[in-house]
Amino acid sequence: MTFICTINVFPLGWVRHIIFRETDLKDTSAITLPVAPTSNFIRNIIDEDNRINKWGGRVETRFPPEPNGYLHIGHAKSICLNFGLARDYKGVCHLRFDDTNPEKEEQEYVDSILDSVKWLGFDWGEHLHYSSDYFDKLYEFAEYLINQGKAYVDSLTIEEIRKQRGTLTKVGCNSPYRDRPVGENLDLFRRMKLGEFADGVHVLRAKISMLSPNINLRDPVIYRIRRVHHHRTGDQWCIYPMYDYTHCISDALENITHSICTLEFEDHRPLYDWILTQLKNIVPCHPQQIEFARLKLTYAVMSKRIMIELVEGRFVEGWDDPRMLTLSGLRRRGYTPESIRLFAERIGVSKADSWIDMGVLEDCLREDLNERAQRRIVVLKPLKLIIDNYPEGGEEECFAFNHPQKPEWGKRVVPLSKTLYIERDDFMEIPAKGYFRLAPGAEVRLRYAYIVKCVRVVKNASGEIEEIHCTYDPDTKSGTTGAKTRKVKGNIHWLSSKHAHKGEVRLYDRLFSHSHPDVSDRDYKALLNAHSKEIITAYIEFSLNEAQPEERFQFERNGYFVADRVDTKPGRPVFNRAVTLKDSWGKST
Ligand code: ATP
Ligand code: MG
Repeated sequence: MTFICTINVFPLGWVRHIIFRETDLKDTSAITLPVAPTSNFIRNIIDEDNRINKWGGRVETRFPPEPNGYLHIGHAKSICLNFGLARDYKGVCHLRFDDTNPEKEEQEYVDSILDSVKWLGFDWGEHLHYSSDYFDKLYEFAEYLINQGKAYVDSLTIEEIRKQRGTLTKVGCNSPYRDRPVGENLDLFRRMKLGEFADGVHVLRAKISMLSPNINLRDPVIYRIRRVHHHRTGDQWCIYPMYDYTHCISDALENITHSICTLEFEDHRPLYDWILTQLKNIVPCHPQQIEFARLKLTYAVMSKRIMIELVEGRFVEGWDDPRMLTLSGLRRRGYTPESIRLFAERIGVSKADSWIDMGVLEDCLREDLNERAQRRIVVLKPLKLIIDNYPEGGEEECFAFNHPQKPEWGKRVVPLSKTLYIERDDFMEIPAKGYFRLAPGAEVRLRYAYIVKCVRVVKNASGEIEEIHCTYDPDTKSGTTGAKTRKVKGNIHWLSSKHAHKGEVRLYDRLFSHSHPDVSDRDYKALLNAHSKEIITAYIEFSLNEAQPEERFQFERNGYFVADRVDTKPGRPVFNRAVTLKDSWGKST
């Protein structure tokens, strides 16, 4: 059923009519792209585990971020993988903060990570954990290892330990403290916990083998003294467990079945397995560690260190700057959770390291927003166009579909009058070859309205074009039979000058001008794109004044835009360009 409803009275007596259909009232944000899970080597492992009933059909994964920065698009790959497996195998996925390194960790990061995982569309239910919740247990297990003769207190400095560790080609050598009796180790370790020693005086090491070809197994340090305030446990501890020791035990305590991590942990897997094997009598669960290739994206930096430098050095305006590839930055840029999930699905999971082109991510957003974004007209860089033979003071309604492929989303009125704004780029005084837009003597269709012909150009004293004059053919209005008989190649958008409003638009581009800014030793700061942000005042269709924060649109022929979630105020929207359209200048109808 179609009905016309009058919503508001606009200046100059213009009454805004919008044709609605009942389906318009549906929430378009509920649209999701169909994404069928594609098989990958991890799914094959799980299928096989299920076939032999290794875990009784259970699939329990975890996403274990360290709260020392904001999540980025690389983390999204891991989140979609871990939560996606849990979803597809009717299992669960834990969100666990790996918070064993208190110098770099903050509550702000914890909050942002919770927010981003939720925004991506995943739910950890009751499975929110912190490694710091296990500090007591981890300590207890360390004493157990000491008692088993599998750990010892070393009193060498960290520097000396590093030197004795050997290299890839040379085995390590034993510390003089390696054979300390169990009782002495236990006493020293307890006193480390009680705070009797200064930072760095002793460490606890696993007793494996200094001759192992795998450096990670050469008696790794598993506890160190650090008098640092922890964002959750405060000053309760002055010794903290190391990542490798903590991670496998946290997995086991949570009954994780498949512990999925990135490839650089492949060499740590023997240590993961060694620790859990020593503890098998007290922690029976032994998850399987599986490694996959991390996401490497062109034009992106994903090292937390560099991201922190970008924020602290004010090269960007915070972690959620729309040019940052953090999830909060992507969100502000206009990315949808669906587009990021689609991206994760599309790039797949493998063991082989490879680069993904940034264009793949941008295409996923285009694909998603093409479906869900209503169309609007905005003139970004305006040029005045005057229709000489249009009646002075006259105006009329033209109708534009809110989505060209979804007539059920209805149409809206775009008022036409004698003076319009078109894009500066849509006029060329001396047209290049193949240029079908406006030029002296040339004809174009004003989208949703008439065919006009350029008859005159007016320039200012310095020779810049100030306005162009056209005549229109009154028999060619879109939607009439006259329009069908006359065809022209060019088709441009426009806004009536007296009906258009002004609005702030931020034209974002990629933060880096180089495709691989994050390669070691490269001075990434020299590779920043000087044109990654341009703020303009554009002419916007009046209905856009009511845009809600995070409402997304296609600005016809200009790209996909979102009303900034921070700076948009009622009646005063600020738009961010999320992504340009594939170039289709002047060709579409
Ligand atoms: P660092 O450990 O250097 O602080 P990180 O990027 O590994 O940085 P974590 O918080 O430890 O950060 O990452 C959490 C999880 O996300 C880990 O399991 C990690 O393997 C995964 N992850 C991080 N970066 C990527 C990436 N680029 N692609 C896929 N997964 C990633
Ligand atoms: Mg890490």
